Amino acid sequence: MAELEGLEFGKSDFVLLDEVTMEQFMENLRLRFEKGRIYTYIGEVVVSVNPYRQMDIYGKDTIEAYRGRELYENPPHLYAVSDAAYKAMKRRAKDTCIVISGESGAGKTEASKYIMQYIAAITNPSQRAEVESVKNVLLKSNCVLEAFGNAKTNRNDNSSRFGKYMDINFNFNGDPTGGHINNYLLEKSRVVHQQEGERNFHSFYQLLRGGSEETLAAFHLQNDPAVYVYTKEGAATVIIINFFTVISALEVIGFSKEEINSIYQILASILLLGNLQFESDGESVQILGQEAVNQISELTATEPESVSKTLLYRTVATGGGEVIEKGHTEQQACFGRDAFAKALYERLFGWIVGRINTVIEVKDYNPVLHGKNTVIGVLDIYGFEIFDNNSFEQFCINYCNEKLQQLFIELILQQEQAEYQREGITWQHIDYFNNQIIVDLVEQPHKGIISILDEACLTVGNVTDTVCLDSMDTKLAQHPHYTSRKLSPSDKSMEFQKHFRIRHYAGDVTYSVEGILDKNKDLLFQDFKRLMYNSTNPVLKEMWPDGQLSITEVTKRPLTAATLFKNSIVALVDKLACKEPYYVRCIKPNEMKSPMLFDDARCQHQVAYLGLLENVMVRRAGFAYRQPYARFLQRYKMTCEYTWPNHLMASDREAVEAIVTQHGFQDDVAYGHTKLFVRTPRSLFTLEQERAALI
Ligand code: ADP
Ligand code: MG
Repeated sequence: MAELEGLEFGKSDFVLLDEVTMEQFMENLRLRFEKGRIYTYIGEVVVSVNPYRQMDIYGKDTIEAYRGRELYENPPHLYAVSDAAYKAMKRRAKDTCIVISGESGAGKTEASKYIMQYIAAITNPSQRAEVESVKNVLLKSNCVLEAFGNAKTNRNDNSSRFGKYMDINFNFNGDPTGGHINNYLLEKSRVVHQQEGERNFHSFYQLLRGGSEETLAAFHLQNDPAVYVYTKEGAATVIIINFFTVISALEVIGFSKEEINSIYQILASILLLGNLQFESDGESVQILGQEAVNQISELTATEPESVSKTLLYRTVATGGGEVIEKGHTEQQACFGRDAFAKALYERLFGWIVGRINTVIEVKDYNPVLHGKNTVIGVLDIYGFEIFDNNSFEQFCINYCNEKLQQLFIELILQQEQAEYQREGITWQHIDYFNNQIIVDLVEQPHKGIISILDEACLTVGNVTDTVCLDSMDTKLAQHPHYTSRKLSPSDKSMEFQKHFRIRHYAGDVTYSVEGILDKNKDLLFQDFKRLMYNSTNPVLKEMWPDGQLSITEVTKRPLTAATLFKNSIVALVDKLACKEPYYVRCIKPNEMKSPMLFDDARCQHQVAYLGLLENVMVRRAGFAYRQPYARFLQRYKMTCEYTWPNHLMASDREAVEAIVTQHGFQDDVAYGHTKLFVRTPRSLFTLEQERAALI
């Protein structure tokens, strides 16, 4: 409801549109953006448009204004949903979650930070030291995760290259007692290669540009990202976070000196690895530059001979159970080196997250003494990605979005239904597009795309990407959401033979199968794992427990990258599904990072694929608007002679009935146990207008 703002700022809730059409939706969104109103509701969902400028709507005073208030008492804001989630958690002992979605650069991560900031600000009024320290670690963990998990991309200078789900635990007082972070699918290919104009993860540049002379010398590094193959692409760009800010955040969280040192030793090893070249004389392959090998072995606390050997040979178990050493070709050596660098970084990242978790994990919680331990989860995860060239990573990310979209529809409908039931109101079921069919296309056992990819990866022999595509074409020819060049030869938009297309909820995405099997296999020779497991640095060793297996013990059917990802997303969805959800839907106004430009076509596309119009319809098909009787009275009592200035009826509900009847929209409402439900916004407009004329 546009209660505290005039209509010149547009409608603060999309359910109040005269008609739910794309035109009206877009008109309102644009008007609000232009007037600096970046947040708008759809019921309890916040739609946010990235302002690309500092807004004066976040500080202490604003937090105070939203604290403990209801959604409709203030203009739409992230603080209001944060408070709603917090209240549900505190008053009703409900586990809640805030799901933030939208494409890269739409403002998800910033939103998640404002939500955390709000929760930190309104809790622990008595400033208890243990609680303050938990809050501090939670806030500092953002800085560390951004340093190691974010990078400059062409879409966002500070793009998160991993998905993050953070649970914050609360005690019966409503104060944070701890938390847990789950990370999803770090884009590790970025470690060894970046697109033009993009950079590697921030952490590398922070070290190279921010490390002191002694630090860099100790790590055998030069203070210039242009010198390293892995960082030279983004070398010219200025850094965002200071090296020492990250170090001090690590210290505050509780990382020891040795651990911090190990982290940077690993980064240095990766940079040095990237510069290693190989040379083949036709028979065998050599490493160019023994010095770098020595340095890597020093940094990783391993033997130089073992490092060289691992880079050049792999152990293979023959069919007869014999173990032999096989030399790499030059190409295999390069592949091995890059796979090793990627894995080092991925494990480092996973280890950092795990280490933070051990610090913030709730300890000694006794439910009998302390009451129910409740949770607010915050999910900041990649949105739909449709690039010029889409590959395995986009396939995974978009699958994840299908899962979340489905959850969104289910939960939003469920939530509506639950509210109607609670209030004793009969409700009619609404049909909506069920994207289960697309989820099945991807994840169904045996028939789904992931299964087909896995089968191709596990088949002995030379299954190429193209053979795998053929197999998908055969198995999925009939599927309404799948096609390929071979299946629709007349489709000129699909230029290449090595592509398949999925008709996603968000639109069509064409994926290339080039390299897809390698990415799914995610092969790292066991020798690298053993090398790391045998390191005398305990931190490094801890990251590679699977390195203790010998080649004959290694499973022949390891889980593929797609299956591991699927399992993690299924677990995530299960976690979210049992919580009361709040949603923030982020929209990116333009591709130029400009605060001025509202690119209609781009925005409309996002509105469409986020299903926002559908969301408004669902909300309106039920009852668009609801309010507790007392509040309704407070606001509209002056519009009715029987209620002004005070009513003499037996209950607020009866007084509300008097107002409704006087204005003649009794057929448009339902009376719940505690709230009035209004079906169409028009009724409320009448009331609002009358109220405006009277005050
Ligand atoms: P995402 O996580 O969705 O990829 P980010 O949250 O990193 O996007 O936002 C990208 C950039 O947009 C930020 O670095 C910041 O410059 C700007 N931005 C996003 N949200 C806001 C906001 N609420 N106020 C000001 N600037 C913002
Ligand atoms: Mg982000």
